[in-house]
Amino acid sequence: MIYADNAATTKLLPEAFEAMKPFLLEEYGNASQPYSFSRTAKKALRAARETIAACIHAKPEEIFFTSGGTESDNWALKGAALYGCDGQVVITSCIEHHAILNTCRGLECLGIPVVYLPVTGKGVILPERLEEHITDHTKIVSVMFANNEIGTIQPISELAAIAHQHGALFHTDAVQAVGHVPIDVKALDVDMLSASAHKFNGPKGIGFLYIRKGTKLLRHMSGGAQEAGMRAGTENIAAIVAMAEALKNNCDNMENTAQRLLCMETAFITMLQNNNIDFIRNGAQNHIPGNLSVSIKNANGEMLLHRLDLMGICVSTGSACDSTRDKLSHVIESIALPEEYAKGTIRISFGRYNREADAYEVAKSLIQIIGMKQQ
Ligand code: PLP
Repeated sequence: MIYADNAATTKLLPEAFEAMKPFLLEEYGNASQPYSFSRTAKKALRAARETIAACIHAKPEEIFFTSGGTESDNWALKGAALYGCDGQVVITSCIEHHAILNTCRGLECLGIPVVYLPVTGKGVILPERLEEHITDHTKIVSVMFANNEIGTIQPISELAAIAHQHGALFHTDAVQAVGHVPIDVKALDVDMLSASAHKFNGPKGIGFLYIRKGTKLLRHMSGGAQEAGMRAGTENIAAIVAMAEALKNNCDNMENTAQRLLCMETAFITMLQNNNIDFIRNGAQNHIPGNLSVSIKNANGEMLLHRLDLMGICVSTGSACDSTRDKLSHVIESIALPEEYAKGTIRISFGRYNREADAYEVAKSLIQIIGMKQQ
């Protein structure tokens, strides 16, 4: 089997698995309890928060553990938009993940206006588009760091600066970026940032929201005093510890992994070109390493996905939306590809466990399928 769908989820790092084991079997104490048995759990929680904060240049008290990207996105948007009753307009982009888009739909139902910024053909949100739409009534601007379908990285610091000039908060869904590209929340000057462990070789069901100190945000979960009283509930120490281990390990190996992933991209694209495949590579030059979205002329992305599956290869299609299989995804629609290419879109996302041979194998299999179809 070749797993080439790392933008969907990643394999757990063995070191992260080892790190979480003691907290499942022996050190199961509740970190909120005062007795000495809970001391190890409490210490591990503090250390994990410090490790994660250091990886994104934040302060430990600015890291709030959540169940993952979806929860972090929900908290950031609802927590900011519903805080107080002044200027509640939300600005986001039309290519966000559904965790943002459906949260925005919910806010619209509550009477909060939402503006959806358009993107260029490469999936970039231009700062001038934000300038055109932002007003002093804008409460929060939320733009993803990197797109999950086409990998495009956005000009985050420029967008955040514009938001701040108008007194708005700036949030970024960095679920596809954390652990893959360097992130410095201070240099970017963002107020909030969402992350999810399973996208960087950590366990599923755990993530965090970075909240800059002093940000006006509603409490997300009422209950106990955990997470400074902002997100109550007994902490999942095992998952938190594993997330910190995975993030640190990915950050330490980031440059090396990125180099290898770029070689895989080149190998894949060169194979398609050398075999005269008519395709468009989606996304911008500045993208998440290993994310390859290609649209093949007169092909069907769904058919390609299933044929590759029969050959033991896992990829994803950028041309299917969540529920209906024959509809273009909102991202592919937004970048306005010519129709004869749009339906033939697939996303190959290589990760740290892939080898260059995988890139050749996926390309070879794809070329074979396309060749069979043309005969
Ligand atoms: N945001 C982006 C950009 C994503 O790619 C994903 C997952 O696919 C999410 C949010 C949701 O994250 P989670 O699966 O941790 O809820």
